[in-house]
Amino acid sequence: MSRIAYVNGQYVPHSDAAVHVEDRGFQFADGVYEVCEVRNGFIVDLTRHLDRLDRSLRELRMASPMGRAALTFVLREVLRRNRVRNGIFYLQVTRGVARRDHYFPAETTPPTLTITAKSTDPSVAARKYANGIKVITVPENRWDRVDIKTVGLLPNVLAKQQAKDAGAQDAIFIDAAGNVMEGASSNVWIVDADGVLVTRPAEHGILRGITRTTAMDVADKLGLRYVEREFSVEEMMSAREVFFTSATGICVPIIEVDGKPIANGHPGGVSQDIRDAFFEVAEKTAI
Ligand code: PMP
Repeated sequence: MSRIAYVNGQYVPHSDAAVHVEDRGFQFADGVYEVCEVRNGFIVDLTRHLDRLDRSLRELRMASPMGRAALTFVLREVLRRNRVRNGIFYLQVTRGVARRDHYFPAETTPPTLTITAKSTDPSVAARKYANGIKVITVPENRWDRVDIKTVGLLPNVLAKQQAKDAGAQDAIFIDAAGNVMEGASSNVWIVDADGVLVTRPAEHGILRGITRTTAMDVADKLGLRYVEREFSVEEMMSAREVFFTSATGICVPIIEVDGKPIANGHPGGVSQDIRDAFFEVAEKTAI
């Protein structure tokens, strides 16, 4: 079956899906995006993802391509046309096509909306959960508006590739004071010496992950204590557990940081408990 993409009002074969060479997403990374998990035929946490999309657009003074009901219809249609039961959709909005010039284009310039979807193999995620992943730390070198989910991801790309070159799977950004910021495409959590879940506050300096927010709901449901506070690399290295949250991975245990094991070097039980209860707690929207 061939994949279908949505590009500015049309469903087109994935292999032909394209935007203009002067699209501002291509020229300036002048665009925002969202990725949602699809599980057993349900979109996970759609409302929170679309709320965050609205916020990203507002922060960049970018026009919304369509209302929420229409957008939800198109998202579901793309998933249906690609027969996705388990997988993701990827949605991107840019400031549209205009002759290359840093200033915003005319207000009448329509935003570009593209949506793709793909199926994923649940056994790949299962292997990650069973084995955990290895990460490296890298100095924070991003701009200070990473709370906006823009497509400007070059530091994240370079950090992930550096991790791969070092035989690890992912990277964690560390600020100049030695505090943990977030992963290259996920939020970081630890279980501290008192057994309390800790994650960095999301007021600035990191993306407020939707999975992070829902993981807090899960912790409430399971009666697990959590706190939002800064924590250092040293505290992470001596934590009982370290794990990532993100829409694509849900809750992935980290077993090694910079070549050193976390705790006994095996995935921990708290991240597993959160993962196991996650889909009961998360919002589910039928395709
Ligand atoms: N931080 C960054 C930098 C990310 O790219 C992502 C994934 N989009 C996250 C955190 C996690 O966010 P979410 O749980 O909404 O996927």
